[in-house]
Amino acid sequence: MAGMLNNHHLARAIADMGFGEFRRQLKYKAALRNKTVIVVNRWYPSSKTCASCGYKVSKMPLAVREWTCPACGTQHDRDVNAAINLRHVAESWVGGFQPVPA
Ligand SMILES: [Zn+2]
Repeated sequence: MAGMLNNHHLARAIADMGFGEFRRQLKYKAALRNKTVIVVNRWYPSSKTCASCGYKVSKMPLAVREWTCPACGTQHDRDVNAAINLRHVAESWVGGFQPVPA
């Protein structure tokens, strides 16, 4: 959510309609395109988990935009790393699929 609000286009859309309505419209538009919306638990640590090795740092203040994994040395852009982790979660659900409840 914090990452989404950092995207100015998404933040504007969410601020204008509220998050519940944004989610409803996202599901509606995804269904039109035969896509599935997957909702990840809000506490999933997408920003502070290394997308390369899985190491999780204990704290990641929002002001930290780039970081280096202490375990494997990979340099991360905070939002790109989070996006990769979320993609991994979504891909892991293919097969044991968990779509958004209707
Ligand atoms: Zn790592």
